[in-house]
Amino acid sequence: MFPAAIAGLCCLSVSATEKVDLMITDALVLTMDQDKTVYQNGTVVIRDNKILAVGDQSLEKHYQAQTTLDVDGDIVMPGLINTHTHVSMTVFRSLADDVPDRLHRYIFPLEAKLVSRDMVRIGANLGNLEMVKGGVTTYADMYYFEDEVAKTVDKIGMRAVLGESVIKFPVADAANADEGIQYALNFINAYKDHPRITPAFAPHAPYTNTTETLQKIAKLSLEKEVPVMIHLAESHREEEAIAERADGQSPVEYMHSIGALNKNLIGAHMILIDDKDIELVKQSDMGVAHNMSANIKSAKGVSPALKMYDQGVRIGLGTDGPMSGNTLSIIDEFNQVAKVHKLMNQDRSAMPPIKVIDMATMGAAKALHMEDSIGSLEVGKLADIIVVDTKAPNMVPIYNPYSALVYSANSGNVRHTIVDGKILMKDRKMLTVDEDAIRNEAIEFTHIVRDTVIKSGEIIQ
Ligand SMILES: [Zn+2]
Repeated sequence: MFPAAIAGLCCLSVSATEKVDLMITDALVLTMDQDKTVYQNGTVVIRDNKILAVGDQSLEKHYQAQTTLDVDGDIVMPGLINTHTHVSMTVFRSLADDVPDRLHRYIFPLEAKLVSRDMVRIGANLGNLEMVKGGVTTYADMYYFEDEVAKTVDKIGMRAVLGESVIKFPVADAANADEGIQYALNFINAYKDHPRITPAFAPHAPYTNTTETLQKIAKLSLEKEVPVMIHLAESHREEEAIAERADGQSPVEYMHSIGALNKNLIGAHMILIDDKDIELVKQSDMGVAHNMSANIKSAKGVSPALKMYDQGVRIGLGTDGPMSGNTLSIIDEFNQVAKVHKLMNQDRSAMPPIKVIDMATMGAAKALHMEDSIGSLEVGKLADIIVVDTKAPNMVPIYNPYSALVYSANSGNVRHTIVDGKILMKDRKMLTVDEDAIRNEAIEFTHIVRDTVIKSGEIIQ
C-alpha cells in the first residue's frame, strides 16, 4: 500500500490508472474468442479472479498492477481443459501396457486390491502437478473417493469437474451401485457451492450399470443440476452387451431410449457411433470427450470427432487415465489429434491446428457446459491463463502460433500457469504445492504396487 500511495502523491498520471492484481504484457495473445482474435504485443489485465481487459499494448497505461508478468513475446492463451481422465491412476502408469482385454483382466482386479483413500490422494496430487506443469487448468475426472481428489484440487488451486464412480460390482468405496449413488450424493452436497470444483455423477459405462441405475442417475442429475460423466460407445464388448440388452440398439440409441441422453451428460470416447447417433448427440446437447492417444494405443478405433466438431457438437480433448494414455498432457494430444484425423480422412488439410486448439479450449469448455466462464480470454471470464515459451529451440521460429503449438510444442514449454487469477506455476516452479514431497510420496507408493503386482504374481495374468 505505502509505495502505491507515494506514487499516487508524486505523479498525477498514476492517479488516473486503475489498480489491478495482475497484468501480462508483451504477449502474443491467442484469445480463442468467437473471431479468434490475436494480439501481437498484447496485454491481459486481471482483477481478483477475472479478466478485466484484453487487448493491445495501449491497455498498459490505464492500469497499475500489483504483479506484472512481462512475457517477452511468449504465447498467452486460455488454460487447457482435459475433458476426461482418472487422475489418481498416475500411480499405476506403465503397468502392463498392451495386455489384451486389459480393463477386465488387469485394471479391475488391480483396483480391487489397491484403490484406497491414500492411493487416490497420492495419485491425484501427482496428476495435478503434471497437468499444471503442462498447462491444464481444468480437468474432468471419474474415479473413486472423489472427495479426496477434491481436497487435492482445492489445495493446488486448479479447477475441476469431479465425478464419483457408480458401477454394478463391489469397489473400494461402495458395495454396489446404490451405495455408489449415495456416496456421490454426499459428495455433491458437500461440494455443490465450491468456487472451483463441480461435483458430478460418473456411472462407469452403460454395460457396467443397469438400466435402472442409469435412469436413477439421470433423474438425480437433473434435480441437482450436476453433470453425469460416462464412458460411451467405447468398445465392441460394450456394443454387444447393449445390443443384447436393448434389442439391437447402439449404446447412444440405448441411452436416448432410457432418457439418459441429455444436456448434463458428458460421453467419453464415442468411437463406435454413426450419423444417427451423432444426430441424437446434437439433439441432446450433451458434451463429448475425445481421447485420441488412449484410443489409438488401445487400438479401439478413432472417434469421428472432426465430423462432430464440424457439426457443432460440444466436443473437447481428453487424455483418459494415465494407465490408458500414459500422460495427462493435452499438448501431447495436439499432434496426434491433428495427424490421425488427416490420415483417417486421407486429407492433409483436415483438422487444421486452429481446430485442435479450439477443441482444447472453447470446445472443451462447451463439452463441460462451462463456456460462459472459461475456454477463452474475454472480459468477464475467469482468469485461467497459460504462457507458452516461444524461445525454446523447438518453438523457434513462430510464423503461425497455432501450428507451433500443435506440431512443435511439448508440455515442458509451458512457462506460467494461472488459475482463477492466481499464479500456480511461475517459470516452471510450483507455487502452491511442494513438488518434491508429492513426487516422493508417489515413489513411496510404488513399493506397495510392486509388492502387490509383481511379487505376489496374483494380478499380472
Ligand atoms: Zn476413461
